[in-house]
Amino acid sequence: EPNTPLPPLKVLIAAPRGFCAGVDRAIHIVELAIERFGAPVYVRHEIVHNAFVVNSLKAKGAVFVEELDEVPDGVPVVFSAHGVPKSVPAAAEARALNYLDATCPLVSKVHRQAERMVEAGRHVLFIGHNGHPEVIGTFGQVGPGAMTLVETIEDARAVQVADPGKLAFLTQTTLSVDDTAEIVVELQRRFPGIIGPKGEDICYATSNRQAAVKAITARCDLMLVIGATNSSNSLRLREVAERDGVAAHLIARADVLDWAWFDGVKSVGITAGASAPEVLVQELLALLGTRYALEIEEVASAVEDVVFKLPRALTV
Ligand code: SF4
Repeated sequence: EPNTPLPPLKVLIAAPRGFCAGVDRAIHIVELAIERFGAPVYVRHEIVHNAFVVNSLKAKGAVFVEELDEVPDGVPVVFSAHGVPKSVPAAAEARALNYLDATCPLVSKVHRQAERMVEAGRHVLFIGHNGHPEVIGTFGQVGPGAMTLVETIEDARAVQVADPGKLAFLTQTTLSVDDTAEIVVELQRRFPGIIGPKGEDICYATSNRQAAVKAITARCDLMLVIGATNSSNSLRLREVAERDGVAAHLIARADVLDWAWFDGVKSVGITAGASAPEVLVQELLALLGTRYALEIEEVASAVEDVVFKLPRALTV
């Protein structure tokens, strides 16, 4: 029935959402390296955790590998935004590889803090997710045994330390703001002498995107988060919505959407993780528009103007 009007659907789009300054910089580094040095440019690990981004860069001449020993001699290699253990640039130097470090400056900042705290004789309790490349990279800034991973509030209650007077904590950049606050309070209760970072280790982009979801959950029956299932900050966005009692799905792209999710739904919230490009949000809106008469409202809870400088090797 071509003339049947489409049912209405309210769409609340969270802002900020999608690309952060660190992701934007990392992608630029790969693109500029291809322009400057020619294809192929190797990238160690997914430059950012998003298949669409990775495939777009592959089409331009990037080759993705997991470890440095898969990179042939004589070709440039980029390290991903998540950061790498010190052993990786060291191995690249030993092979005289031309490497570019796309580690987000906010991750590098945590690396330097970890080094300083360990040099000052403190043991570091690191709040983060086991196995995430950022955690592997940060642990790889200091010697073995210098840091202990704390993943959960239960870990914070149970962790044993040799000298409670010589403790520090640091965090991964893409954690849940609420969970982390709870863990830090518990560590401070158990170890009153523990010191922590001056500002936040959870980055501006992670906290802004979580706050932007919270700002719309009260008005949403359903939340769609565009992002990869290995994207830490995207997973946290889904959790934030679920904690506010909103059914939420993390979707890589519009094509995996299940219309059954929309049964009884009058308003849907949309956000995107820090590694998900805006084109995927627009693609989702276009798909929703085939079934519903959309009433779109963007709800901005913060304005971001962070831009990070590119490495000198690409700007001179
Ligand atoms: Fe940097 Fe935060 Fe973006 Fe990670 S999410 S790349 S720490 S700005």
